[in-house]
Amino acid sequence: MNDFRPDTRAVHLPQPMVEGSRPITMPIYQTSGFVFDDPALMADSMGRPDGAYVYGRYTNPTVRSLELAVAGLEGGAGAIATGSGMGAINTVLLGLLKPGDHLIAQTSLYGGTAAMINELVGRFGITVTYVPENDPAALRAAVRPETVLVYLETISNPMTLVADLPGMCGAARELGLVSVVDNTFATALLCRPIEHGADVVVHSTTKYLGGHTDVVGGIAVFADSSLYEKVWHFAISLGATAEPFASWLTLRGLQTLAVRMERHCSNAEFLATRLASHPAVAAVHWPGLESHPSYALAGKLLSGFGGVFSFDLAGGRAAGEKFMSSVRLALLAPSLGGVETLVLHPATTSHRSLSADELARNGIGEGTVRISVGIENPEDLWADVSQALS
Ligand SMILES: *Cc1c(COP(=O)(O)O)cnc(C)c1O
Repeated sequence: MNDFRPDTRAVHLPQPMVEGSRPITMPIYQTSGFVFDDPALMADSMGRPDGAYVYGRYTNPTVRSLELAVAGLEGGAGAIATGSGMGAINTVLLGLLKPGDHLIAQTSLYGGTAAMINELVGRFGITVTYVPENDPAALRAAVRPETVLVYLETISNPMTLVADLPGMCGAARELGLVSVVDNTFATALLCRPIEHGADVVVHSTTKYLGGHTDVVGGIAVFADSSLYEKVWHFAISLGATAEPFASWLTLRGLQTLAVRMERHCSNAEFLATRLASHPAVAAVHWPGLESHPSYALAGKLLSGFGGVFSFDLAGGRAAGEKFMSSVRLALLAPSLGGVETLVLHPATTSHRSLSADELARNGIGEGTVRISVGIENPEDLWADVSQALS
């Protein structure tokens, strides 16, 4: 570059390679594209997910580090990191469904997913049948010649129902259907759906994987490499793929996932148990409590009961609203899975688009509170929650 004039040299920066040592952590490759010496290699790499790095919308070393890490944890053959959890879900749904297709989804779904399925039904000529998350017989009965996909969530929001993954994914496989499982609430540390027969696992990495409430992202993991390749071709056309800085923040979070999950689960147990015997609380919905409908299944499927749960205040909507304005340490905010404890009132926020009937079908009452338990000291959390209850 020394042959060039200063204004040219300022554009083409030196890129010293690291020799004889390497970075401890994954660097942020903040570049939108990659330079080739060999035109044939460039052409070849544009057509497949495992070629040389070409363009930021396809992948990038920082993004690929996240894809490899999560694929490894979930036991998948490949993964596609996306700009949000909904980006991952839609990459998979739009990548696998076409007009005329039928999908079977569990009744209680994350609000954004339910809204997207309504779009697919309303505008894209796709039909849907809802079945309970733990009823393989209902799944079999719902199948039609045009059925292609089954959509489940390991742990549902906000009632924390646990899906019968072996039963449902096993039935899907027998019937030749692709099963997709949203594993956001459990993470690969509490449950690995691919081990129970799932074909695709999706995550909002915004939640536990990132874990620090500072990044939005998603990822789709594929059990099988041919399905991975098929959806990868669609994903790079759709353009919902992740960018390097967000992926780097998520990688940074992922490194402490195991210690955070342990604390989230033990704090949730502490609060759920105390809330269950509080006079202002009508019911607590945490799968680690014997009273929960998924308790037995959760014991078999999960290696921890998770850090999110909900509870019904005996005083209904007024009590729910009073609770929201009375917490001081717990924050009234959307999202979940971060180090801070967050609360919200599903009926007026995350599930506001559901009709009264749909709310009832999901078991969400006027006085239902959802809590995402953080990693604070549990006694401080209980002090805050109990003062808000009184
Ligand atoms: C948050 C969430 C999503 C959507 O993820 P975004 O990152 O907000 O797009 C999907 N599924 C579940 C279970 C979630 O909690």
